[in-house]
This record gives sequence, structure tokens and C-alpha cells, in this order.
Amino acid sequence: MDSYSKFSDKVSELCYEKFKTLPKRGKPQINKEWTLLAAVVMEYPTQTLKIVSLTTGTKCLGYSELSDKGDVIFDSHAEVLARRGFIKFMMYHMLSLLQKKDSDVLHFDEMQRNFTLKSGIKFHLFISHVPCGDAAIFPKHSVTKQNQSTEEQHRNDDGESYPKKLKPDLSNDLNIYSEPDSSLCTLSDIHRTGAKCVEGENQDPKVPGKDFHITGVLRTKPGRGDPTWSMSCSDKIALWNICGIQGALLSCFLTYPIYLSSLIFGQCPFDVKALQRAVVERLSSLTFLPPQYHINRPAIFLSSLEFEYSKNKMLKIDPTAAPCPTSIIWCDIPNFLEVSVNGRKQGITKKNINKPTSRISICKILLLEKFLEIRNLLHGNEAELEMGTENSLTYLEYKQMAKSYQEAKLAVWKIFDKWKKKPDHLQNFLPFLNKKE
Ligand SMILES: [Zn+2]
Repeated sequence: MDSYSKFSDKVSELCYEKFKTLPKRGKPQINKEWTLLAAVVMEYPTQTLKIVSLTTGTKCLGYSELSDKGDVIFDSHAEVLARRGFIKFMMYHMLSLLQKKDSDVLHFDEMQRNFTLKSGIKFHLFISHVPCGDAAIFPKHSVTKQNQSTEEQHRNDDGESYPKKLKPDLSNDLNIYSEPDSSLCTLSDIHRTGAKCVEGENQDPKVPGKDFHITGVLRTKPGRGDPTWSMSCSDKIALWNICGIQGALLSCFLTYPIYLSSLIFGQCPFDVKALQRAVVERLSSLTFLPPQYHINRPAIFLSSLEFEYSKNKMLKIDPTAAPCPTSIIWCDIPNFLEVSVNGRKQGITKKNINKPTSRISICKILLLEKFLEIRNLLHGNEAELEMGTENSLTYLEYKQMAKSYQEAKLAVWKIFDKWKKKPDHLQNFLPFLNKKE
């Protein structure tokens, strides 16, 4: 037990310390704004830990703000950005190997022309708060209710917010979390999520108290009054537990999908059963998967250390504290640090808003361009033929080349059949847009 709790505290501390070393730009305003922090942390066989990507963010674009050019990041929740940062990091290592440099992460097979993780390497996902959506819905206990104001009872609990008197007494590892004694507390209310049930699913009754939400359903993120096309982080993490965190493009180059060994949370209101339901159990009836894929069951840990800009902390200081609109994106790549707002680089003038200079490096089109660079080095002429010609494939078509990955995704969608899939027209863009601009 001790070693587990040390592990979750060690990971969270590493992430908080890294965050502190970053410049002020993009960070929340002190005592006025809160945010979420997420990181993908790599563990070497020696058990040494290294952060590969670290991001902040709370925002998601509504449908009317989306771009069909792949140049804008739709979903800027921290954990989603951290996964994109991980992809960027892996692409950097693939390119290094192809340029005959060393990598301590990947092994390149010259004959097979593909990459495999080095033996014993593991990845963990740290998030400063439980993910939005299904994992955020779990009981509050009546002992705390009298301490809540009406406003608090109606606030969504995503990203932080729990009654002051109910600090979860969980300074240790959550694999061994035990339920509170039910004879001592009666369930009268639940923690809430801002994520809305997808169309075609059963809908939340939204009656005050414990029946406000239903559990186990797919949800989309809230936008700024506008519906979004982005599934909740709980739904996305569930998908990653089947398909891996590498996404479709990298699957074309990797021998195996890459799964998370654990999910580690900063101190926050927390329920391990809700998490397991949301990110694993909902897909546990899945039977058919391509050979390299399986149902991943990451360990789940709660750290005793709270993020300095958590929603709960900030609201205690100022009840009107707001979510920070900017995101910080850091990857363990030389000189890599970006700040975004509304899915584009911060500080871009209106005139340049659709220009390549406005793009964040982990947006779809720039990841596609890196993908093509790797593909070109791997397969030479064959890959070159597809590019720069009228026959160049679209982003969607390149993603569809990852056959096993797409099969695994289809298997997920058989169970998550109401998943709000991105319309094709948002993914039909061509690479190398900047050549025409
Ligand atoms: Zn989220």
C-alpha cells in the first residue's frame, strides 16, 4: 500500500514541479482562474519516471467554431492534449531513429520497417482531476449536504468542486479503496458533470438530488452554449483502453498498440467504482478484437497532493473564479512549448487567424505532415507517389490505412453505438496546405 501511495504522490509531484518550471504565459491568473493539468509519464525498466507531455486546459469548441482544414484543435481538455503531445513525442523519436540517431523509447526494425516500444517501457496518464463525463458521476454522502450552498449543489463537479467538509480520506492507492460504511451515510446527492448525454441515449432526469444523472452512458462535452462534437474524456479514455493511446496514424508504424499502465489523479473528489465503470467496465463485454489488441485495465491511483490551480482550491479563494481559457502544451522535445486559446496559438491577430502561423504543433494537419515525413523515410518512392499529386490522400484516408486500429475502433462502436462520430467533411483535408498559402 505504501509503495502505491508513494508512486501516485511521486508522479503527481513530478508533474506539479514540471508545471512550476514553465513560464507564466498561458497559466491561470492567480486566485482568479482554475485549470486542469494532465501529463503522459514514461516509466523506464529501472522505474525512473520521465514526463513526455504536459498540458493544461478546460475548453472545447462548439460546432460552429470547428474548422474543416485540420488546423484547429477542437478539444482542449488537458488529458486530450496530453495524448496528442504523446503522439508528437513518439513521432519525434521515430524521426530520430530514421535519421540514425538513438532513441531510448523505440526500437526500429530495419527489415520490417516498423517500430516497437523498447522492452519494459510503460506509460502512465496523470490528470489533476477525474475526467469529465461518466467517471465524474458518483455519490456524495449526506453528511456533507448541509455544508453546501444551493449554488454548490447546482454546480457541475467536473474539473473540481466538492463540499469543503468532504475531503476524501484517500491518501493512498485506489486499487484498495473501500466504500464508506453505508450505515453511516445515506445517499442524497451525486457529483455532477457538465457533459451531456448523446442523442439517442437515455437522458438525464435532472431532478434535484441523487437522480440528477444516469450513469454508464456516452456524453459530449459542453461548449460555449453551442453543442460540441467532442466526446467526454471518460468516453475517450475508455476508447484508449481498447485502441491504445497512439491513435490511427501512429498505428501504421507500430507493431503493437500502446496502452496506459495506470491512471493517476491529483487529490480530488473521487470514486474508484465510477472510474472503473466509466473507463473499463462499459466495454468489458467486448469480444472480438484484432490480434494485437485487448481490453486494457489500467491501475487507478489517487494522489494525496492537490494541484495548485485546482477548481476547488480557486473557488475557496474566490467563488467567482473561472476556468482558464488558455492551454499550455509542453512535450519532451527540444525547445517545445506552445500556448493555445480557442484551438489556435495564443496571440494570433485576426488577420492571421487562418494562416499556418496560427497552428498548434499537435493539430491534425501538422501531425499528418509529420506522419508523412516518417512514411516517406520508411517507404521512400512508394509514399512519395501519393504526395504532392492530385492523388494525395486525405487525413481520413491515411487514418483508414491503419486497418487493425480501425477494426478495434469499430468493435468499440458496436457497444458505444451512439458515439458521436466526427463528420467526414471535417477530416477530408489534404496535407501540405501551407504550400498553397
Ligand atoms: Zn474532459
